[in-house]
Amino acid sequence: MEQIVILGSGPAGLTAAIYAGRSQLSPVVISGNALGGQAASSSEIENYPGFPQGVSGLELMQAMQQQAERFGARIEMDEVQEVQLQQHPFLIKASATAYEAKTLVIATGVSPRSLNVPGEAKFKGRGVSYCATCDGFFYRDKTVVVVGGGDSAVNEALYLTRFASKVYIVHRRDQLRAQKIAQDRALGNPKIEPVWNSVVTEILGDDTVTGVRIQNARTGEESVVRADGMFSYVGNIPNTQLFKGQLALDDQGYVLTDRAMHTSVPGVFAAGDVQERVLKQVATAVGSGAIAAMQAEEFIAGMEGRAHPQRQA
Ligand code: NAP
Repeated sequence: MEQIVILGSGPAGLTAAIYAGRSQLSPVVISGNALGGQAASSSEIENYPGFPQGVSGLELMQAMQQQAERFGARIEMDEVQEVQLQQHPFLIKASATAYEAKTLVIATGVSPRSLNVPGEAKFKGRGVSYCATCDGFFYRDKTVVVVGGGDSAVNEALYLTRFASKVYIVHRRDQLRAQKIAQDRALGNPKIEPVWNSVVTEILGDDTVTGVRIQNARTGEESVVRADGMFSYVGNIPNTQLFKGQLALDDQGYVLTDRAMHTSVPGVFAAGDVQERVLKQVATAVGSGAIAAMQAEEFIAGMEGRAHPQRQA
């Protein structure tokens, strides 16, 4: 029986592991297939305090992992297939092992939303990417299209200018939503050209991508942007499929929590992007991860002599 199992190894999950480790709870972190979560694929994080020159997402997440392990966290590279939250201890079935846990912290984050246009699935990994840090290197002196107008699209477009000779930002409105500092940098970069009021309707190519078909959202006019690759950053969907019907979720599928990261099931906590609706940042994920772990510790202390805590679901 584990004291605490943490699902996810992004900033929220690893911070929960650091705090739980320091509380002698011997946390188990089930990392999923992407150790470090989405943050690990951020090319550069400039707004996490303590790093005045910025830090690469991978470097930051490797440091958090080492810190968690130093305090006794066990990190299992495994994928959870099923959870049973209506029983206590909770049952967590991963591909390799099943765990019983007194408390659970859900820090499963979010995944990139698909554009759902013809060609996207066909060219995924062959010209369609959701990770500039992973794939940007392949576009040296080439032309790429970045889709979206948020922080991810704009920051990663800037990152791609290190390699590509030309970066189009195709955005469905005539205004970016990213933070002003990033917008100004992008719009002032000679390699970046915005394509306003446009949506991608098809990804074109033979073996690899040769361009994208776009449609002007105002006039309906269609045209083709020639490019060697497309990076899509059109938002995210929460990774909560496993919890449907067992935990209260909002209408977009985010886990509902109170300010102390309690979910609708006592003993189950959620932290990071999977429950964050105000500000999705490493800084906020770290805060909610710390609270979740401390609340889990309190729950364990409180349940002594109580084998079956009352449910509120
Ligand atoms: P986001 O903020 O949700 O932005 C998604 C972008 O995609 C928006 O510009 C949206 O257009 C566009 N979009 C959505 N659906 C679309 C569709 N079907 N077709 C075309 N365009 C579509 O997502 P994100 O940029 O991944 O950021 C997620 C969260 O993480 C945000 O809270 C963000 O601030 C945070 N983040 C922060 C940093 C940082 O601070 N350094 C870095 C990365 C992410 P509209 O603008 O018209 O809605």
